[in-house]
Amino acid sequence: MATLGQAREALRNAKTIVCFSGAGISAESGIPTYRDGMTGLWAGQSAQQMETAKAFRQNPQLIWGWYLWRRQHVARAQPNAAHRSLSQLIRRERPIPIITQNIDDLHERAGSVDVVHLHGCLSSSKCFACHRPARVTPVPIQEEGALVEPPRCVHCNGRLRPGHVWYGEELPAGTWKSAVSLVKNCDVLLSIGTSGVVTPAASLPGIALSAGATVIHVNTADVSLDAANELMLIGKATEILTQLCSPLVIAGRAQ
Ligand code: NAD
Repeated sequence: MATLGQAREALRNAKTIVCFSGAGISAESGIPTYRDGMTGLWAGQSAQQMETAKAFRQNPQLIWGWYLWRRQHVARAQPNAAHRSLSQLIRRERPIPIITQNIDDLHERAGSVDVVHLHGCLSSSKCFACHRPARVTPVPIQEEGALVEPPRCVHCNGRLRPGHVWYGEELPAGTWKSAVSLVKNCDVLLSIGTSGVVTPAASLPGIALSAGATVIHVNTADVSLDAANELMLIGKATEILTQLCSPLVIAGRAQ
């Protein structure tokens, strides 16, 4: 395990820093990761099975109900100290870019302006049949597991589906290219709260390492790849990032 001092040193010496975040950064805002248990009517289901076109085809009301519940849950959640710390990280007078696997908007609500959403956003919807984007006024969901009939597309009358990327689907055009370009050209990749199992996103730390960058992992579990230029910081994202990303640390005026 690395020390905070080593990570601070790497950040101070880096000309370019890029952040890469996963579900773990939003866990302390009360948004469960997919590895936390599912509750309500969803208990016993796995998110990996529900986040698919097959699941929507089989039970659109269940998947739409889950989607609306998550939208409501995220809307009520607040960015935490980890999101805020990243929004304050400045390099060469510019905010650092964040590549996120998250479909929530907590980085933006914490003030980050340069955010690449690899898997799209929970706030978007589209037609399951003709794929045109659609606008949805979410109805309140009182109980977990509620079955809700998806609204219909104004163009083709197909059922509307969540607009974010499901398992087995392509990433939004251009986002993967931008993400790879960012990690290939950074000195430090700060990777927070990701298990590194969902592809292709999981390959980004490896791409950064191959391009010569240092990768700092912040996670409650050891997710390091056993490479020489990796620093593994084990702990909660809020606690570690508040110590790591303060302006004093980045400016080299704190130890
Ligand atoms: P994941 O669920 O596979 O892994 C979460 C990681 O976060 C784990 O390694 C865990 O050890 C770590 N973690 C948990 N709590 C933490 C904390 N307080 N501080 C630091 N680390 C913590 O998440 P993933 O790697 O992002 O991939 C799964 C997929 O889940 C992604 O496609 C993502 O879109 C989706 N997802 C997104 C959200 C969201 O938008 N907030 C929520 C759930 C799932």
